[in-house]
Amino acid sequence: MEMLPEGLADALLPWYERRARDLPWRREPTPYRVWVSEIMLQQTRIEAARGYFERFMAALPTVADLAAADEQTVLKLWEGLGYYSRARNLHRAAKLVVEQYGGALPGDVKALRSLPGVGDYTAGAVASIAFGLPEPAVDGNVLRVCARLTCCAESIGQPRVKDGFREQLRRQYPPDRCGAFTSALMELGETVCLPGTPECGACPLREKCAAEKTDRPERWPVMPGKRPRRIEERTVFILERDGRVALTRRPDRGLLAGLWELPNVPGALDETAALCLADSWGCEPAGIEPCGAAVHVFTHLEWHMTGWRVRCQAAPERFVWTTAAEREREYPVPSAFRAYKDKDQL
Ligand code: SF4
Repeated sequence: MEMLPEGLADALLPWYERRARDLPWRREPTPYRVWVSEIMLQQTRIEAARGYFERFMAALPTVADLAAADEQTVLKLWEGLGYYSRARNLHRAAKLVVEQYGGALPGDVKALRSLPGVGDYTAGAVASIAFGLPEPAVDGNVLRVCARLTCCAESIGQPRVKDGFREQLRRQYPPDRCGAFTSALMELGETVCLPGTPECGACPLREKCAAEKTDRPERWPVMPGKRPRRIEERTVFILERDGRVALTRRPDRGLLAGLWELPNVPGALDETAALCLADSWGCEPAGIEPCGAAVHVFTHLEWHMTGWRVRCQAAPERFVWTTAAEREREYPVPSAFRAYKDKDQL
């Protein structure tokens, strides 16, 4: 495969020293903080993750605190970030770290890699940033930079391309600046070598970059064929009684496992069908009104939702009937339902 140009660290590090953003996990890069931040950042933008990270660290400042927390507390701190399996894996991994390593994350890629939710990327980030080891962390941003530096003709979806760049980068790590090199590569991908519009004029690697010498550097990387998302219609119910709203808990497995949600069913029910269903649940509906349509996009699935607000005269026990304060405090409701919360309808 194409070879990366030499001397990346020498060109990148002075730029990184001048340009590095002040991010909370960079201020005190302990293994725990780096680990939690990298898990949060896997599917979340930096600006969105900042506040979550600070709250998470304030509530659970050590691996031992995380291991000792109950799952609902962890999920509540994660509420709105999505991809809740990340939070569950973090929790399980913290327990393992306490049991097997006395509460200190291991400074070894293989051991890190064996923890739930930790892949090559996260293991590389923790090993290099927190432990100063020459271990690359190759995510989509770094892969894009590498593909452009080399005009890589192969799809970045192929494991051999990622593995190949990881091995090439490993050889370029400066022994005394491993963490800074990892962070600098990420920073370049996040702030300069952007997916649609690379800002080559501001890039410290432009003299070394093959794509920059072409008329359209944004043509790289070659992307893998995308799988179309499945569309699922759902009807969402805001069941109200005496200022309380019904929630129900999702099954322990599958999509949004174990989280609380507004009652919802497959299909787009019209008013009559929605009323009949609420009646069959034992809610004794006294009135119904539409409360809008909403779309939520998961990785491989889109929910197209129709909402109905139903005034109920009975509060069947199949649901938990919650006040606004209780929902805020105790029940992690996933952001798939944000449209209904944001419209002040909850
Ligand atoms: S020169 Fe342009 S395409 Fe090349 S790495 Fe820099 S920003 Fe990306």
